[in-house]
Amino acid sequence: MRDIVDISIVGAGPAGATAALVVGQTECRSLLIDEQRQAGGQVWRAKDRSILSAPATPESRSGDNLRERLAASGVSQMTDTRVWQIERQGEHWVIHTLRNGTAGRLYSRAVILATGAREEAQPVRGWTTPGVIGLAGATALFKQSIRLPGRASVVAGTGPLVFFVASEIRRLGGTVAAVVTPNTRADWLARLPSMMARPDLLWRGGRWVADLMLASVPIYWGHAVKSVSGDDRVIGVTLCRLATDGTPLPGDIGIAADSVCLGGGLAPSIEAAQLAGVAVRYRPDLGGWVSEAESDGSTAREGLFLAGDSCGIRGAVAAELHGQIVARTALRHIGQASASDPALERAYRRASRFGEAMTALSVLRADPIGLATPDTVVCRCESLTRRAIEDEIESGAVSSNAVKSGQRAGMGPCGGKYCQSSVARLIALQENRALSEIAPPTPRPPIRPVPVSALAGDFDYGDLPMPKPAPL
Ligand SMILES: Cc1cc2nc3c(=O)[nH]c(=O)nc-3n(C[C@H](O)[C@H](O)[C@H](O)COP(=O)(O)OP(=O)(O)OC[C@H]3O[C@@H](n4cnc5c(N)ncnc54)[C@H](O)[C@@H]3O)c2cc1C
Repeated sequence: MRDIVDISIVGAGPAGATAALVVGQTECRSLLIDEQRQAGGQVWRAKDRSILSAPATPESRSGDNLRERLAASGVSQMTDTRVWQIERQGEHWVIHTLRNGTAGRLYSRAVILATGAREEAQPVRGWTTPGVIGLAGATALFKQSIRLPGRASVVAGTGPLVFFVASEIRRLGGTVAAVVTPNTRADWLARLPSMMARPDLLWRGGRWVADLMLASVPIYWGHAVKSVSGDDRVIGVTLCRLATDGTPLPGDIGIAADSVCLGGGLAPSIEAAQLAGVAVRYRPDLGGWVSEAESDGSTAREGLFLAGDSCGIRGAVAAELHGQIVARTALRHIGQASASDPALERAYRRASRFGEAMTALSVLRADPIGLATPDTVVCRCESLTRRAIEDEIESGAVSSNAVKSGQRAGMGPCGGKYCQSSVARLIALQENRALSEIAPPTPRPPIRPVPVSALAGDFDYGDLPMPKPAPL
């Protein structure tokens, strides 16, 4: 007989974990699944065992507090588990998992997807050189293993993350060669009224910038990294100033560095929701393509709910509140009494205002593809350059799906996470169409790499039923 869970939650970041805590207070059977070893998601990522005695940070404290609450609640957790397919079978959702190399299936009456965000890559010449890492990715290095990207780093990207990463590098004893951000001081001033919704976070961000200025770290406002130099390791970067419309201006600036943290903003992780049949729409104000969901997390698919950054980038504070709201919606769906909470919804709206202002600052002012030269690698899994993709579009491949089948862009291990947005921008540019018209490729399982051996299981060749040869 099948073991059926009432509510499964995929993703144990602020949204999914708080949803699990709410569901865990009821009698219903729930399960929290995440591919990381411990709950916490991106922002509250747990420290590795080797650095447990390292000084606490606001993020590590919040994460430890969450993990303690989860342990005390008795919520069932399945960590180190990748979800690679979600489908509807009759009255239930089937979640396909991979854990310790073994494939499994879970049946659930309702599912909350809280799969968070992914980092957008910014393809410029040399961005695949060893020593270049993602800006958001750098936070994982600090939090999990207190490792620095190098000895002298250029930190480049948008929104508050660029200042957080630069100040963390300094706190951990590294050198920041320069901070480079396409945002201008005027961009930040324009968002000040929305940021007043969370004066505590505004104050924290102000301290990061003040610390960098006091340490005389050069901050290049309204600039972008144009190229990274070095053959087998980074030796420096070239910057350019951006015009008000975001196009690069002449007059290059060279900076010596052995590492670069390079970010192009965050985009919602929509693949799991897409596989489950949720429609997507283009919302650049929320990070790009987002899955369609109501503010209470409900979607057009029965028993499927979305929480946190996976349905629009609004940040960790909003995600934590959203998880609680969506848990109540899911509980009502399975017939448990759970009243909505107007105070919680008000707090969520306030946190969203702050988060959306940060997202607006994180959306690149310059079209990131404008900085890629014809020989710049765009799809790193398949080593496809901008020129190769443009040639494919020129030959008639004018959709993301067509470029994918013609050139394999997005068919490598990352499943398109690195190149998908750039391919869409190249199509839009070449075909003179709006980005909102270039839909992401049709989602296909597996959304995470799965070894064929895990699907095939153990078998003896002698036991395989061999069909008789067809008569000639
Ligand atoms: C790399 C990265 C670093 C970031 N660092 C910061 C930071 O330092 N500070 C900050 O304020 N914001 C940071 N952000 C933004 C931050 O993620 C969010 O604002 C916040 O954590 C959103 O919470 P969430 O619960 O919606 O998603 P997340 O915290 O992203 O949690 C989503 C969880 O879902 C899991 N998951 C996703 N897909 C699957 C799958 N198929 N199978 C199993 N598990 C899955 C992930 O492992 C993750 O734990 C970062 C984002 C990224 C992408």
